[in-house]
Amino acid sequence: MNSQNTKVIILGGGTAGWITANLMATHWRDKGFEITLVESPDIGIIGVGEGSTPSLKGFMETIGVSEAEWMPHCNATYKVGITFKDWSIKPGFSEYVHPFVGQPDQFNIPAFFHNSFLRRKGIDLEGHPDHFFLATEMIRQKLSPVAPENFPFDIAYGYHFDSGLLGQFLRRVAEGKGVNYKAATVAGAMLDTQGNIDHLKTTDGEVLKADLYVDSSGFRGSLIQQSLNVPFISSAESLFNDSAVVFATDQEKDYAAHTISAAMKYGWVWKIPLTHRNGNGYVYSSNFIDDDKAETEFRAYLGLLDSDVEARRLKFKVGRVAQHWVKNCLAVGLSQGFIEPLEATALDMVQETVVRFIEAYNNGHYTDQFRDDFNHRISARFDAVRDYIVGHYRISSRTDTDYWIANTTNEKISPSLRSILMSWMAGKNITDELLEQKLDTYFPDTSWNCLLAGKGLYPNREQLRPGSDLAHKYKIEDIREFNRRCALNFKLHRDQLLTLQQS
Ligand SMILES: Cc1cc2nc3c(=O)[nH]c(=O)nc-3n(C[C@H](O)[C@H](O)[C@H](O)COP(=O)(O)OP(=O)(O)OC[C@H]3O[C@@H](n4cnc5c(N)ncnc54)[C@H](O)[C@@H]3O)c2cc1C
Repeated sequence: MNSQNTKVIILGGGTAGWITANLMATHWRDKGFEITLVESPDIGIIGVGEGSTPSLKGFMETIGVSEAEWMPHCNATYKVGITFKDWSIKPGFSEYVHPFVGQPDQFNIPAFFHNSFLRRKGIDLEGHPDHFFLATEMIRQKLSPVAPENFPFDIAYGYHFDSGLLGQFLRRVAEGKGVNYKAATVAGAMLDTQGNIDHLKTTDGEVLKADLYVDSSGFRGSLIQQSLNVPFISSAESLFNDSAVVFATDQEKDYAAHTISAAMKYGWVWKIPLTHRNGNGYVYSSNFIDDDKAETEFRAYLGLLDSDVEARRLKFKVGRVAQHWVKNCLAVGLSQGFIEPLEATALDMVQETVVRFIEAYNNGHYTDQFRDDFNHRISARFDAVRDYIVGHYRISSRTDTDYWIANTTNEKISPSLRSILMSWMAGKNITDELLEQKLDTYFPDTSWNCLLAGKGLYPNREQLRPGSDLAHKYKIEDIREFNRRCALNFKLHRDQLLTLQQS
């Protein structure tokens, strides 16, 4: 089989659909694919999802779009990490920055690992991640992560953006690459005798036919879940949140390049800075608090109890489909699953799914030869992300509500996560544990160390003893000075965004 005249229909024009369209149009340029994105004029997009990981930078580079082109259009800002607040009540650990790790950090990671390793063994060393990473200094000084040419190290960063505007922008780029757009609501899919999708039927009775169908229809999973009946594997027993209430608030004059994630009584809230507003959302479990009370708690937190600013309420389900590529259908985005937004990993999963699919499809000469391998790989990634997110809840030291008690005593965690946590608690090197479980490519050891150390998962202060000179071989003042001097190279976040707008 070759690619000539292969027709692809992408169902859904949310961020997932447009990322898919751009990646396919870029990778399959000049290969004879005809790509059409079909979107209902009546069904909206979810309209949240405004934070990314560094992989979005790679995506923009792949499709040939510069920051100056896309960021001002999408009111985008930079993101060097996430500041977690109030997830821990351990003294000294009420807050920490979870950094995106760049090349300069490689100088100080050995010190962080050394200190946190020995602190777990009871030596009184500084083990809080905030002392070791450049991102923390950048957030403190409200700097942008864009390095000048004469700073010879890569800095890892992601973005915040208006998801509606990003979709519109990506649509223009995709159309420029030859992707067709069709406004129509799909009523259903007809299967052939082999169980493949033969065609889609719109509510106007039109027949839409393709060789390959991408389901990016959002939580409803119109093709993968409804037509092809692929089972959904829920993660609700380890991730309790199923609801969100969302507000926009005014932007402050200066803002740092980070998402803030603050734990609440029944979940957590995000604050995402865009150039024109802040996006705020409270993610909570409806089994522990009802929607009205959650909104009131959130309004009180934001100082909006007397304000008539409008709130949006959302429901979501956590988990994934059993297979992402079935017959001639690939599921991408919320249709394939969702592991709540704590680490803003959903778009990263979209990219990974599409890039790996293109790779598998190409390697199999446009057949499904590598489908099982692909499905296994994407499911493993979902499960690794799930475990990392579950880790945040399981190791919290909060016990102030039944919600937190249920999370911190939850025994329904995966054997993989249990093993990582036991390894840490036993004072072992968790790098070995991650390697053994082949998990090091998802969240690397530095991420796990930051998570566990940042939440203060150490012996209590009164149990610590001084330790030898060798134990104290790294000086925190030297590390701080290194990061301070690196930070001298970066502009203020606000100024860098202005430069982009003016370019
Ligand atoms: C509370 C919350 C917070 C989140 N935060 C983040 C975050 O910070 N970072 C992150 O990466 N992700 C986040 N996400 C996930 C993110 O929102 C989604 O991954 C992203 O928006 C992609 O959504 P989608 O394109 O899959 O679906 P949607 O945006 O729902 O788009 C579905 C599309 O399908 C179309 N459609 C549906 N049915 C039909 C039909 N029958 N016929 C024709 N068209 C149809 C609709 O018109 C629409 O265009 C968050 C999600 C939630 C719920």
